[in-house]
Amino acid sequence: MSAKSYSPSANVHMTKKCPYCYAYLPLTVRRCHACKKRVGDVDKLGFASKPFDWPGYLIAILAAAALCIFVWWGFFKE
Ligand SMILES: [Zn+2]
Repeated sequence: MSAKSYSPSANVHMTKKCPYCYAYLPLTVRRCHACKKRVGDVDKLGFASKPFDWPGYLIAILAAAALCIFVWWGFFKE
């Protein structure tokens, strides 16, 4: 039998996998040594969770706001 199939009950892992670059990391690290991104705790599949990315959301919101201002500026401003 293949050992690659996931067992849902096996939630004890010795390592976690980076969700960005799939490098194996020790459970205690908070930052991937390969791609330098922040990683969270291990989930039941052995992947590290992605921490909430506030700067990413902020940039997305600012980009949306900038687009609204651009549209307003281009079409409605006299
Ligand atoms: Zn990584």
